[in-house]
Amino acid sequence: MKKKACKKCRIIVTGDKCPICNGNSFTNNIKGRIHILDPDKSKIAQTLEVHVKGEYAIRIR
Ligand SMILES: [Zn+2]
Repeated sequence: MKKKACKKCRIIVTGDKCPICNGNSFTNNIKGRIHILDPDKSKIAQTLEVHVKGEYAIRIR
């Protein structure tokens, strides 16, 4: 299954629903990926405004 990213949260999911916002608006146009393991301590997580650990797209279109 192809991975896609939530347009709102940028989290990468394989299902039909975003686990964070429950949205179903996704994009396959992912530019770079990153694993956020500790959102409270990660500078990248703060930059991306990520509060839940997981795999994220750095940039989406
Ligand atoms: Zn989402």
